[in-house]
Amino acid sequence: LLTAERVTCRFGGLVALDAVDFHVDAGEIVGLIGPNGSGKSTLLSCLSAGRRADDGRIRLDGKDITGRRPSTVARLGLTRTFQDARVFGELTVTENALLSRDWTRLPSFGLLRSPERAARERAAGLLDLVGLGGMAREKAGSLSGGQQRLLELVMAIMPGPKVVMLDEATSGVNPALIAELSEHLRLLHREENVAFVIVEHNVGFVFGMADRIVVLQQGRVLAEGPPDEVKSNQEVIDAYLGA
Ligand code: ATP
Ligand code: MG
Repeated sequence: LLTAERVTCRFGGLVALDAVDFHVDAGEIVGLIGPNGSGKSTLLSCLSAGRRADDGRIRLDGKDITGRRPSTVARLGLTRTFQDARVFGELTVTENALLSRDWTRLPSFGLLRSPERAARERAAGLLDLVGLGGMAREKAGSLSGGQQRLLELVMAIMPGPKVVMLDEATSGVNPALIAELSEHLRLLHREENVAFVIVEHNVGFVFGMADRIVVLQQGRVLAEGPPDEVKSNQEVIDAYLGA
């Protein structure tokens, strides 16, 4: 579904991503882990077109999306959340959810042709699904950090993408609520038939959720495979898990 070949990203002399190959199959949950600064967020930015890759090719559903605009990439079915939740604090929770439709303006996008009411119903349904239904009329700025992350997740899912990439979804979320978050994600995964890329420092969470784990280290793929295999990979233990 999503394929990246030899994606390279430099910041001046620093090579943040060094010819990284990465792919996501339809409906798959991929966990992306690795030490601080290993390039996880940069990879999400390159894939979602927030940052232009210096080299490499990215395809979504067979279409070349290398160098396209973020709104185009979102319209084609790839959205993300950010490590620092980005919601509009002065708008209500529902307004935030509805806003995300504007990422995607072209008529081929089913949701946009649907009447406003259908969009409101979809927003309400998704907010209910993640437990924010009761807060629909609150200002987003009044939500807790964890709730803002859930709202951002709804915003990313709202346009009906094929792949959603989550950057540190559990950070700042109360440990007691992390189990709940994984339930929400599982529900969304099932109901929306969407693939997830989960960037995560909480290894327990990501190993429990993912079908496949990719480990980055210094801008390269160190290891890749099913969670059990990666967990017992000595190189991964030495470089990351053992720390
Ligand atoms: P973390 O787990 O801390 O979020 P990460 O794996 O997401 O780390 P990135 O944020 O992708 O890592 O950063 C990869 C490398 O690129 C780091 O060395 C970082 O300092 C560098 N980097 C990232 N963004 C920029 C930027 N805008 N300008 C300069 N260097 C950057
Ligand atoms: Mg990061």
